[in-house]
Amino acid sequence: IMNFDYDLFVIGGGSGGVRAARVTAALDNKRVALAEMDRYGGTCVIRGCVPKKLMVFASEFSSIFTESRSYGWDVQKVNGLNWNFFSKKLSAEVSRLEHVYRNLLKNSGVKTFDQHAKVINEHTVELATGEQFTSEYILLATGGKPDLPNIPGIDHVLTSDQIFSLSKLPQKLLIVGGGYIACEFASIFTGFGSKVTQFCRGETILRGFDSEATTLVANQMKSNGVDLQYGVNVVEIDNIGNSYRITDTYGRVEDFDQILFATGRLPNSNGLQNGSAGLFVGDNGEIVVNKYSQTSIDSIYAIGDLTNRKQLTPIAIKEAMAFVQTAFFNNPTCLDYSSIPTAIFTKPEMGTVGLSEEVAAERGPVDIFTTYFKPMRSGFADNEEKSFIKLIVCKKTDRVLGVHIVAPGAGEMVQMAAIAVKMGATKKDFDNTVAVHPTISEEIVTMQKPVRSS
Ligand code: NDP
Repeated sequence: IMNFDYDLFVIGGGSGGVRAARVTAALDNKRVALAEMDRYGGTCVIRGCVPKKLMVFASEFSSIFTESRSYGWDVQKVNGLNWNFFSKKLSAEVSRLEHVYRNLLKNSGVKTFDQHAKVINEHTVELATGEQFTSEYILLATGGKPDLPNIPGIDHVLTSDQIFSLSKLPQKLLIVGGGYIACEFASIFTGFGSKVTQFCRGETILRGFDSEATTLVANQMKSNGVDLQYGVNVVEIDNIGNSYRITDTYGRVEDFDQILFATGRLPNSNGLQNGSAGLFVGDNGEIVVNKYSQTSIDSIYAIGDLTNRKQLTPIAIKEAMAFVQTAFFNNPTCLDYSSIPTAIFTKPEMGTVGLSEEVAAERGPVDIFTTYFKPMRSGFADNEEKSFIKLIVCKKTDRVLGVHIVAPGAGEMVQMAAIAVKMGATKKDFDNTVAVHPTISEEIVTMQKPVRSS
C-alpha cells in the first residue's frame, strides 16, 4: 500500500470543492487538503448568486416606494440609492461570507493552500511554489469563468466578475446577452434607476425555458423600463473619454457609461494539468467525467461548472456529496439530473421545474393548464403587473411534467412544487390539495380546465 500525503486533495474552493473537503475531513482518519488561488466561496459567494440576490433586494425598493403610495403611505420624496453605502456594505458582506467559508474548512480540519494548483499525475498535485503533494484521490472543482466573443474593443466591457464592484452606478448601461445573467442584471439596474438597454442576438430571452413564460417575463421587463432589443449584437466598442461607443449589427452607434457582457460561461480548466497528466478535456474546455464524476484517470474526479453539466450551485454541492459517497463509502452514487428546479431573479421573477411545453409536446400528448391574473396586491395598487402559472400534464399518466411560474416569490413557490413533481404527483393530486387563501400560489391547485392540448 502506497503512503499518500492526503486522502483527498481538492483543487478549487467554491461551493462544490468546499463541501467535498469538509464532509470528507469530518470522516474518521481522513486527511484533506484544498488549494484555492482566489477568494474562498467561489463564483456563488464572491461574484454570483449571493451578491446578486442582495442586489435584487436593493433594486426592489424603487417600486415598493411607489406602490406604498397606492396603499396610502405618505412617501413624498425618495432620493435614490446611495451607491457608495450599498456597495461598501455589499463588499463587507461578501468578505464576511468568505471568512465563514475559510472557517468551515479550518474547523473541519482541512489544510488549505492559498495558491494555484495543478495535476501532475494520477496521485500528485503541484502548487504554484513548485511544492508537490500526493493524495489517494484528487477532486477538481475549479468552476467556470465568463466567456466573451472576440470583437474589437472587447477589453472595455464588464463581465459579471466586475459588476459587483463598480465604483459608480452607471446612468446608462448596455447589457449584451439573453440568458440568466443578462436578464437578472437588466432588471436589477433598472430597479437601481439606471437606463438599461439589453441586446439579445436571438428572438427570445432565456432560450430553452417555456416560451410562454419567458415571453411574459420579457414583456414585463420592457414595461418596467428595460429597452430590450432582439436580433441585435455589438460589433465594435470604442473608449471615448468617460464612456464607451458601440456600433451594432445595423451600423447604429450609441454611447454608454458601462457595457456588461453576459454571453455564457466556460469551464475553468486552463493550467489545471501538466501536459502529460492525461485528463480528457472536451470541446468547451470541460473536464470529461462519467456519471460518477470520475475523469479519464480513475483516482481523479471533477464536479461543478468545470464539468459543464448544469451550472448551478446546488448541483455542484450534490455532485460533491455524491463524490464523497462514491470515493469514501464504497457506494457509487450519481445524480438524477431530471426536473431540476431553478429561479431567474428578474422582475418579474420566474420559477420553473420540469419540461417546457415545447419539449413535453415533442415527447407525447399533454394538457396545458394556464392562468394569467393580477395578484391582489398589484390590483389594489393599480399596477398592471400580471402573474402567470402553467402546468404541463401528461395526458396518458396525468403526471405533472412541468410547472412554470412568473410572479413575485416564484422562486420560493417552485421549490415546493418541485417536491411534488419529483415525487411524480398527478394533476389529480394537485386538485386534491386544498388551496392556501389568499395567496398567489393557490392558483397552482385551482386550475380546472386545460386551455389546450399539445
Ligand atoms: P446563458 O448560457 O444562460 O446565456 C448566454 C446568453 O448569451 C444567451 O442569451 C446567448 O444567446 C447569448 N450569447 C452567447 N454568445 C453570444 C455572443 N457571441 N454574442 C451575443 N450573445 C451571445 O449564460 P449566462 O452567462 O447568462 O449564465 C451562465 C450560467 O450561469 C447559466 O446557464 C446558469 O446555469 C448560471 N446562472 C444561474 C442563475 C440562477 O440560477 N438564477 C443566475 C445566473 C447564472 P443565445 O440564446 O442566442 O445562445
